[in-house]
Amino acid sequence: MLAVEEARNRVLEAIRPVDEVEVVPTAEAAGRYLAESPRARVGSPAFDNSAMDGYALRAADLGEAGGELPVAFTVAAGDDPRALPEGTCARIMTGAALPAGADAVVMQEKVEADEGRARFAEGPSPGANIRLAGEDIAPGAGLAGPGERVSPALISALATAGIGAVRVARRPRVLVLSTGSELRDPGEPVGPGEIYDSNRFALLAMLRQLGVEAVDGGRVPDQMEALRGALEQAAEHDMVLTSGGVSVGEFDHVKAVLGEKGEIGFWKVAIKPGKPFAFGRLGRAYFFGMPGNPVSALITYQQFVRPALIHWMGGRPAPVRINAVAGAGYQREKAGRTEFLRARLEWSGGQLAAIPLSRQGSGMIWGMSRAHAYIVVDAGSHGFRTGEAVVVEPGSEWCSFGEPQSRGEE
Ligand code: AMP
Ligand code: MG
Repeated sequence: MLAVEEARNRVLEAIRPVDEVEVVPTAEAAGRYLAESPRARVGSPAFDNSAMDGYALRAADLGEAGGELPVAFTVAAGDDPRALPEGTCARIMTGAALPAGADAVVMQEKVEADEGRARFAEGPSPGANIRLAGEDIAPGAGLAGPGERVSPALISALATAGIGAVRVARRPRVLVLSTGSELRDPGEPVGPGEIYDSNRFALLAMLRQLGVEAVDGGRVPDQMEALRGALEQAAEHDMVLTSGGVSVGEFDHVKAVLGEKGEIGFWKVAIKPGKPFAFGRLGRAYFFGMPGNPVSALITYQQFVRPALIHWMGGRPAPVRINAVAGAGYQREKAGRTEFLRARLEWSGGQLAAIPLSRQGSGMIWGMSRAHAYIVVDAGSHGFRTGEAVVVEPGSEWCSFGEPQSRGEE
């Protein structure tokens, strides 16, 4: 069996990042992966300006004890002010350009003003309340690099620097298929022995959140011919994701059909839940065969497919892990697999507590929907006791991390 990191590395090594780029408006670039280092067209601030509503002056015109100055003019945001005559001050608003000659701003709350004169109780030091040109972004500065995911904060920085469009990697087209003769869609009647498909919808939702082009390929019954037909569509996609049919059951045909039509790497990964996992090529598409159990499908997506997609788009996937204290203990008899225990996170007594949920079965998807994170139990570990330090991987796409939800369990 392959260790989780080993399996992930094999996937990443096998995938060649896309070299096709697109130019998209900055306003629409959220979630895209940069294929360039955008450079600032203008600095930020673009000019020296006031950080406060107040009065601009020369610090040298007032002693430490303050004094009184005539108000020469008013500068609003957007004005292009003339130079400040010596021995005067100017009324100035937040964000307005500092008049030449001025070197400090006094906030209006500290000034008494009437009939064109302003009285200052104390003199400011030079530079007070002034935002200097380029102190955040120097003109021409590289703001981010290739392989970075464009965040809303970066969109704001790019816009600030006058960058209207960026070069990004093309988004992959990803086909999602569910396999299983027992599956029906919600809304349809189910007969004896049949169940509702759920994996397809969770996978499509996670793909859309990541910002890739997700294509619903529907359901395929456990028949070789049906599977062959469904996989014909793979040619028009960059990646194909299936769930179900990859273990050793009599009707688990994914491996066989993939063997006929493409190249298959079928692995048992030392992961719990989610042991059987197929990875390969189907024409030009990369193929991921995930297990059918809903929790296993989501976890293998998170551990292998998501990093693969990010890598394909030129990004550098890195799992986020944080330390927490176990809010309840967990023991297992058999070590050997890295286990991803679904847990709730709670901030209590100045500590982050991770509480493993009681519904840990690989089919218990509702239990997973009440969780915020995985507690990562190392392959060699037999578990942990209440109060022990644990390593936690907060959920990103599969849960609503940080949103209150009913506990459900109690
Ligand atoms: P399999 O990997 O095909 O052996 O499926 C393992 C378990 O997951 C079985 O109980 C299946 O019925 C169930 N399962 C497979 N595919 C899905 C799906 N798309 N949605 C919900 N459950 C599924
Ligand atoms: Mg099946």
